[in-house]
Amino acid sequence: MAVIIQASRQFSYAVAKMMAKGEGAMEATLVKAYVCKAAEWVTREALQIHGGYGYAEEYPVSRYWVDARVLSIFEGADETLAIKVIARRLVAAAKA
Ligand SMILES: Cc1cc2nc3c(=O)[nH]c(=O)nc-3n(C[C@H](O)[C@H](O)[C@H](O)COP(=O)(O)OP(=O)(O)OC[C@H]3O[C@@H](n4cnc5c(N)ncnc54)[C@H](O)[C@@H]3O)c2cc1C
Repeated sequence: MAVIIQASRQFSYAVAKMMAKGEGAMEATLVKAYVCKAAEWVTREALQIHGGYGYAEEYPVSRYWVDARVLSIFEGADETLAIKVIARRLVAAAKA
């Protein structure tokens, strides 16, 4: 979990630096897709560690997983990003 979080953080910082220079539109889409899945996986594991208590709504970890789940839906659902942004740009780059 720590490895995934650190990789996500470093990827985000790298893309933020690119965007500060007016670059990295494609990378921004890649990092969004990646870190949303990473958050989902990490919070799933956090819930799992707590066993049945993790699933109970009384415990914050239950809410963290639910909150992470929506990240792949809003501000560009994963499938939309993959098909309409990432795949199109990869195909355009391959043709160029
Ligand atoms: C908590 C929350 C807050 C939100 N806040 C805002 C806000 O402040 N402002 C705002 O404008 N919107 C907001 N939204 C809306 C959000 O942007 C949309 O939910 C999101 O864009 C997905 O659209 P949709 O719900 O219509 O799903 P749909 O577009 O109907 O998608 C449903 C499923 O079909 C898939 N899909 C859709 N098209 C394709 C395709 N061409 N190929 C393959 N798969 C496809 C999607 O990936 C998804 O899995 C919010 C949503 C939530 C849940």
